[in-house]
Amino acid sequence: MLDPNRISPAWGENEDLDASNDIRRLLVSLTGLDESAVPPVLPMTGGQVLDVSARLTYCPKCWYEDAENGRAPYIRYQWSFWSSVLCTKHETWLNARRPGNQLGSELNGWAPVWQTEPTWASAACLRHDPALGPFVAGFEAETILRPTCTWECLDAEFQALLREKALILKLVSKPESCRVRAHVWEAMEVALTPRVTDRDLRGYRSAEPGWIADRISYLSVAIEIRRMIMGSEPAFERVRTVLENDESAKQLVWECWGHMRRSHNQAQRYWRGANILETRQQGDNKSDGLSSTI
Ligand SMILES: [Zn+2]
Repeated sequence: MLDPNRISPAWGENEDLDASNDIRRLLVSLTGLDESAVPPVLPMTGGQVLDVSARLTYCPKCWYEDAENGRAPYIRYQWSFWSSVLCTKHETWLNARRPGNQLGSELNGWAPVWQTEPTWASAACLRHDPALGPFVAGFEAETILRPTCTWECLDAEFQALLREKALILKLVSKPESCRVRAHVWEAMEVALTPRVTDRDLRGYRSAEPGWIADRISYLSVAIEIRRMIMGSEPAFERVRTVLENDESAKQLVWECWGHMRRSHNQAQRYWRGANILETRQQGDNKSDGLSSTI
């Protein structure tokens, strides 16, 4: 429950509540607090908020900062989004706790994670218990490749894919692209991690993958193909190598390129029809107008 006396910009802005207005109304009616004391629920973002059972990610460095600032570790609301797989502030992939552990429900199972580190345990007023480590570790950022582009740039590209409902992400998500995604993941992995699937995320119902490794894989393949088509530098050298050499990957890249060209031609016809293409081209560079279609 929120402390009504604390200053909301300092404390309440990042707190995670489930995306249900009913829960918020219930909290207001049960506690008698003013609505302003209960922060708004997560914004409705067209299905981009993960099911509760898949909200398992965290940035360890954000939690060290919480402790340094004299507060308990807390879950950032932005970690609840499907496309949120990294922390730009600390330039790292997010970690994830293991799903379906027996040490708490999906909603309150964070205490054992905080107990594994003395700093977090102390900040959360819990007993430090390093023996819990092997039971809570699900995914660690250091086990996969870092991008060669900046983390800011990578995050912006990931968010754009979702915002634009990019066709390229749909093609990468097809069951036929499973082999390519698997090969790319092998190239990205620098240390073996326990295999987790969406079946391990108890109660997970969405058609999109929920586990962080799969989300990173989908987004990274899409970004690298898009960069290839646009003639940009690789974001991941090893991923680029797979896409350029693996036969099924080449097929996927070709498919994406074909769709992109058709979309581009349609866009050109539209602009010509509107008799404004020539005006646009005077000030635009060659790639403008393509990026939103792929
Ligand atoms: Zn962080």
